Amino acid sequence: MKPQIWFLTGSQHLYGPETLQQVADQSAEIQRTLAQGGLPAEIIGKPVLTDSGAIKRTMLEANADPNCIGIIAWMHTFSPAKMWIGGLDALRKPLLHLHTQHNASLPWSTIDMDFMNLNQAAHGDREFGFIQARLGVPRKVVAGHASDPVVVARVESWTRAALGWQHLRTLRVARFGDNMRDVAVTEGDKVEAELKFGVSVNTYGVNDLVEFVDATEESEIDKLVAEISDIYEISSELLAERNDSLRYAVKIEAGLRRFLTEGGFGAFTSNFEDLGGLRQLPGLAVQRLMADGYGFGGEGDWKTSVLVATVKAMGSGTGRGTSFMEDYTYHFGPGEPKILGAHMLEVCPSIASAKPRAEIHPLGIGGREDPVRLVFDAASGPAVVMGMADMGDRFRLVANEIEVIPPDEPLPNLPVARAVWKPAPTLSTSAECWITAGGPHHTVLTQAVGAETLRDFAEMAQTELLLIDNRTTPADFADRVRWNQAYYRLNRPL
Ligand code: MN
Repeated sequence: MKPQIWFLTGSQHLYGPETLQQVADQSAEIQRTLAQGGLPAEIIGKPVLTDSGAIKRTMLEANADPNCIGIIAWMHTFSPAKMWIGGLDALRKPLLHLHTQHNASLPWSTIDMDFMNLNQAAHGDREFGFIQARLGVPRKVVAGHASDPVVVARVESWTRAALGWQHLRTLRVARFGDNMRDVAVTEGDKVEAELKFGVSVNTYGVNDLVEFVDATEESEIDKLVAEISDIYEISSELLAERNDSLRYAVKIEAGLRRFLTEGGFGAFTSNFEDLGGLRQLPGLAVQRLMADGYGFGGEGDWKTSVLVATVKAMGSGTGRGTSFMEDYTYHFGPGEPKILGAHMLEVCPSIASAKPRAEIHPLGIGGREDPVRLVFDAASGPAVVMGMADMGDRFRLVANEIEVIPPDEPLPNLPVARAVWKPAPTLSTSAECWITAGGPHHTVLTQAVGAETLRDFAEMAQTELLLIDNRTTPADFADRVRWNQAYYRLNRPL
């Protein structure tokens, strides 16, 4: 079933049935206009709300309906906002306050008091804004005429954030092994994560997975090898003398996929220090599962795995990719400074610029057989990287707007998939700010949604987001980090 956004129109009884019918008809028109913009959710119009009982009932229904990912509210006329207190207080779904108007222009020569009374969102929505501010309701406010593509794009950004939030609320993460020993930033409070985000994060012995892998039928391996041969270029050694390694790599994929499906998991982690009976560190398998929407984090990094799954849900249907990523190494010059991002193996082919190539190379860590992996360059274009750190008293998201660019030269000796990017505003400011914020080295890189969607998501999740963009300076950013510190500590219940 297509996810739904419920559209609520506020009014009151004072206007009489005739006007209320006009309100309902015009609201339906606004909804159609928005829907024509191609939102990734269906807009469901609800009857015009004129009293507190109906408002609260609608909010409780929205909370209980798993298809409802959020609410858009608009006060076409004046809706005395004390009617909204109980409903807004009960609402647990994301809220967008659309501040719009049925008519785009004023009918200067014919305008009369009937017109004025019907088209009074200009003050009806301010009354609604007051009560939301007074109650401290998390929300996004979008103002403008519904036919304006900018307005539709901003509603779409929020809708995509709501898709991610909905996915996260019921996400289950399987961790194979613990975090990499002694690493600090991949640690985190899993109880807090479940309370705050809804995601459950639990560990499984890697040999539980090995049982699934070993139980894979030869016929299933044959099928998968045929499937990947259609989608990717396969190196000649994998087709000949090292074909057994390719067959084992897809065997991991089959076992892992079955394990995740049977357990209802939408994300997972691995750790090269804890591979049990696995003959290869999962590379190809992780890449292919990520391409199907699964979250992943390396070295036991469940927080990044959660983010990858969440952001992938936000970007569904865009045709653009999202991947697990790691800041790896820098090019300070000549030319413009840039970052080379990659991982040991696990970069998602959804961000590839061209057909990925399956290859096999030695891996210095893990102490297992050489792993199979897909190698490619990331597609050029605007993107965002975002990481999550646990600051002890809260989760912090750090994001950076970036531009993925082709490598300056081919990288014939680099045996992993990679992305080269210019971070906004410059490499030095980006890196100074990221490090000032304590942002992690693991991130989600997305070309499917922009910074506005991530900001809308942070608002829904009531989680700190520090964004580095073209307007950022290190001094302003450091101040923001300091002020946030005070805000989040004061804002905390005792
Ligand atoms: Mn890593």
